[in-house]
Amino acid sequence: MTTRLYYNEPDLLEFEAEVVGTLSLGDRTGIILDRTAFYPTSGGQPHDLGTLGGIALVDCYEDEESGDIIHVLRAKPDSVRVRGQVDADRRKDHRQQHSGQHVLSRAFVELYNWPTVSFHLGVATCTIDLTVESASREQLDRVEELANRIVQENRAVGIRYVNEENIAEAGLRKATERTGEIRIIDVSGYDRSACGGTHVRNTHEIGPIQILGASRAKKQTRVEFICGDRVLRHAHATRRALETISQTISSPLLETPSAVASVWQELQQAKKRIDDLDAQLLGHEAVAFPVHDGLAIAAFKDRGIDTLKLLAAKIAKRPGTVVLLADQGDQLRVVFARSADSTVDVAALLRKTIEKFGGRGGGRPDLAQAGGLTAASAEAVLQFAQETLR
Ligand SMILES: [Zn+2]
Repeated sequence: MTTRLYYNEPDLLEFEAEVVGTLSLGDRTGIILDRTAFYPTSGGQPHDLGTLGGIALVDCYEDEESGDIIHVLRAKPDSVRVRGQVDADRRKDHRQQHSGQHVLSRAFVELYNWPTVSFHLGVATCTIDLTVESASREQLDRVEELANRIVQENRAVGIRYVNEENIAEAGLRKATERTGEIRIIDVSGYDRSACGGTHVRNTHEIGPIQILGASRAKKQTRVEFICGDRVLRHAHATRRALETISQTISSPLLETPSAVASVWQELQQAKKRIDDLDAQLLGHEAVAFPVHDGLAIAAFKDRGIDTLKLLAAKIAKRPGTVVLLADQGDQLRVVFARSADSTVDVAALLRKTIEKFGGRGGGRPDLAQAGGLTAASAEAVLQFAQETLR
């Protein structure tokens, strides 16, 4: 079994070890060391990165049966004695996120008695799942405030070991299924959890904790959060986004919410006005539309199915009229309509047109539509429909 140096020395970034086993993993090599400072993926926390014997580590995982840690490299090291170098930024980030999670999970229990059932440390954000169906922003704000207070109190974060026989007296936040000697992370006077991850030494190292939001996941609530340097990066990104909005709409930064709301309202009013004007315009077009021997027929380009249907319905208000319209846009579409006093079944006419040119569609005897027709031109389809009608 590999000795886990990170258990007691989470600050250790450089170490020397001996290669005690090698696995062939296709074009990669799995290395087992007598001891390691590399954290393997487990407990919701991803593995460390870095180099081993100067070769980049691409993965690191636990072999459940043997308890060995497998270091996956692109090539085999030259020597049996190797030097490991843990990626400092990634380790620091993971320590911040994981320790922040302990504090946050305890804060949820303290304020609302909502236990955490799972944790995931993601590339951009982290999540915990709570056994509660919903959480309001106000409740999340209170938890965030408490968690940040604990961080600022700069409490020591200790590592202790308790034998499973004495685990009941250890005062854990959450029962553990681990056996034997159990590693406990102790946020002084605040939280005790069985955990194998890498953590900070003092809560102030966590930095700020920010809850980004919560969503319902089955009968639980998934809380998304970030800690430490991620909060700063997120604040910068949020600020840049706000500045862009503020410049675009020429409004002071903190007044953008009401400014955007009024721009949005104006947009909705303008859209409605355009719709009204479009309808009026279509009305005029329908009245002036040329109708010969009771037939209104025309091919268009890029007018869209909604306009085509509206226009056909408006023309069909004229007594004794059959309307055959086609439009060539992203696909070839047709709309057939007839006035209320006509006996022509345009749905039947559409079926015959689809038989000839393919496509999908349907409708009623007085209004029918289809799209995806395959023809040389919109005019060719209309000519066929007109001949079929006669
Ligand atoms: Zn932990």
